[in-house]
Amino acid sequence: MLTIHTDTKIHKMSENNPPVAKAKSGDTVCFETLDCFGGQLKSENDLLGGLDWNNVNPASGPLFVEDATPGDVLKVEILKIELDDHGVMVDAPGEGVTGAAVSSESTKILPVKNGKVKFNEKLSFPICPMIGVIGTAAKGEGIDTGTPGSHGGNMDCTRIGEGATLYLPVNTEGALLAMGDLHARMGDGEVEVCGVEIAGKVTVKLTVLKNCKLPTPFLVNSELAMAIHSAETVDEACVGATMAMHGFLTGELGMNEHEAGMLLSVTGNLCICQVVDPEKTVRMEIPLSVTKAYGYEFE
Ligand code: CA
Ligand code: CA
Repeated sequence: MLTIHTDTKIHKMSENNPPVAKAKSGDTVCFETLDCFGGQLKSENDLLGGLDWNNVNPASGPLFVEDATPGDVLKVEILKIELDDHGVMVDAPGEGVTGAAVSSESTKILPVKNGKVKFNEKLSFPICPMIGVIGTAAKGEGIDTGTPGSHGGNMDCTRIGEGATLYLPVNTEGALLAMGDLHARMGDGEVEVCGVEIAGKVTVKLTVLKNCKLPTPFLVNSELAMAIHSAETVDEACVGATMAMHGFLTGELGMNEHEAGMLLSVTGNLCICQVVDPEKTVRMEIPLSVTKAYGYEFE
């Protein structure tokens, strides 16, 4: 199996990045990833203010996927996420929602063992591994890896985990897939500015889809179909995610515009992915029982 190592990484998702490896549609590839701090925070004495910001949010890649051409969709099946033995969290005045409540910077190292992340002496939680940054090259000038967008990127969506399938747009030849910023666990919103940031490995199966009409980024797991949208404000992201799913219901399932809207009000859940990145991310979730009832099969 092809492995992308952490020495080949990018900080901008751009069509100008030279690919570090090539894969074919149908291949399985492993991406080794650094944590979002580039591994710079090694102890609780290392603070956010001491970071070299040029090395923050590294995404391993980019990978050139043969036959992927603009207008195609890249299907990314997340087969496996393996995590390092510890994660790290930071806070700082003014960072995230809760940055208003702290007067100094702090760093916390969180041991990860036997499927649990230890928060403190009283609290441990099951791990819930997810990929914070995953995307293809953005159109035009490119977008830094700390920002989400229609290309994917720093979406920080808790549902982008093992067993899920992510559909991303292909904006340039080869798609140029890259990923990083794993979290051992994170709450929806990422309110404090980070999850349990951790290094690890992600194994994915890649398939190029021609004539796929899914709105991207789009995510499917064993229970839900989700349209993901990022925008300058949460309000705008809510509208974007909702209308993307409305378009899916009318375009792909053939529902009429009235029923599609009513259905989203009956069984669609708008959920916040994150509110702390330069653009905010929201997803609209519907149960797969809806697509099944219409006989719709995801490619
Ligand atoms: Ca992130
Ligand atoms: Ca992160």
